[in-house]
Amino acid sequence: MNRLTPLIFKQSKSGRNGYKIDDGDTKNISFEKFINKKLLRKNFPQLPEVTEFQVVRHFTNLSTKNHHVDKDFYPLGSCTMKYNPKINDAIAILDGFAMIHPNQPIETVQGALEIMYELEKILCELTGMEKATLQPSAGSQGEMVGLLLMKKYHEIHNNKKDVIIIPETAHGTNPASVIMTGFKVKQVKSDKRGRVDIKHLKTIVDDRVAGMMLTQPNTLGLFEDKIEKISKIIHDVDGLMYMDGANLNALVGIAKPSLMGFDIMHINLHKTFSTPHGGGGPGSGPVAVNSKVADFLPNPTIEYHNGKYSLEMHAKNTIGKVHSFFGNFGILVRAYVYILSLGNKGLKDVATYAVLNANYLKFLLQDKYDIPFSDGTLHEFVISAIKQKNRGIKAIDIGKSLLDYGFHAPTVYFPINIPESIMIEPTETETKETLEDFANVLCQIDDKIDNEQEYLKNAPYHTPVRRLDETKANRELDINYYET
Ligand SMILES: *Cc1c(COP(=O)(O)O)cnc(C)c1O
Repeated sequence: MNRLTPLIFKQSKSGRNGYKIDDGDTKNISFEKFINKKLLRKNFPQLPEVTEFQVVRHFTNLSTKNHHVDKDFYPLGSCTMKYNPKINDAIAILDGFAMIHPNQPIETVQGALEIMYELEKILCELTGMEKATLQPSAGSQGEMVGLLLMKKYHEIHNNKKDVIIIPETAHGTNPASVIMTGFKVKQVKSDKRGRVDIKHLKTIVDDRVAGMMLTQPNTLGLFEDKIEKISKIIHDVDGLMYMDGANLNALVGIAKPSLMGFDIMHINLHKTFSTPHGGGGPGSGPVAVNSKVADFLPNPTIEYHNGKYSLEMHAKNTIGKVHSFFGNFGILVRAYVYILSLGNKGLKDVATYAVLNANYLKFLLQDKYDIPFSDGTLHEFVISAIKQKNRGIKAIDIGKSLLDYGFHAPTVYFPINIPESIMIEPTETETKETLEDFANVLCQIDDKIDNEQEYLKNAPYHTPVRRLDETKANRELDINYYET
């Protein structure tokens, strides 16, 4: 259990290798003849010299250290860890997709452009928007692009505006994006039902308001049912409505944000439209917009005329370029495959079952856990461990205890307007049995509080590492060895 395994680099022994292909006639080729000398290495790369078997063992062992959605339930609220159908990967790694180069002549990448063009059209259809850019590589970058579009809109309309309104339940990236794009944040309070407090909103909206960012459904998993009123208040001062659509699982195929008054929104392909994410893997956060800001989208846009796809640069009012080439192409292919393989009905089912699963799981937990805002739960919900805290066990202890049962912990301590919050998003792909299993474990943990409190406080016991000092672990990374 506690043997230390060194990094692959530390396992290196000079002369060891996997398989070696005979040099053949390449021995006599001088690379300098073909490759610009500036681009040639001066020294050999520092690669580990190990056998093929060592490589296989090393990475197989590493892959089992962490939790992932292919291993077990991963109910991370807001972040949507849903099953990623393997057909997405099978298609994305076809040579025609994986091996193309973005600098290839345009007539040789027509198929790739067609996929991007079609994906843009589908996202516009699902959101009711007019045009989209696929370039942003994350939701947070989508937010930034959206806010830059707002900035451009107000510049062109000669509006003197510098304030963006966001609710207190907003995802942390929202205020960060606001500050990074040079706006100021004004916070609107939530009402008793966990929605935007309209009365408070009215008191803080004035001519300086450039727009509002709103997550819909909000991060409590609740639909902002006064959305038309909210949009009107913002539009009346010529502000723009931005929807944080990172997680579209409750709306996809069911409701169009454009009809709620939103002008700009981002969509995380890596949440709603599957694709593995987390651990720094590539994502994609397309931004879809209506006609108010469509002309300002980043360069290039993909157009289709006379049977040919082309990339167009719009010098006039564009906010410029936001990503090298066209974004994270492999993720676009995966999302496209996911959407086509589900079809219209399948996409609607995603939303329907995501909501059903969340509501069933909430029902199973309501006897033991506090659920402060519970009317109208959609694809996720937030429970509070306040009753458990009063008996001695905090949300973090519950999260850590879950790890020993082989589950990933839900999102804890977010949103911040609920004490000891535990945010749960089961996703549509989980079975009824898994949901019951998980609920059972959460109830068992609650049962243990009175007799086995010390045990819970020191969990987890069966993970590769125990309870880390998370700040120290981030700041003083020690990755030289791991335990097998
Ligand atoms: C995940 C998420 C984001 C940020 O998306 P990233 O791709 O992680 O940058 C923003 N808002 C909400 C509501 C989210 O769930």
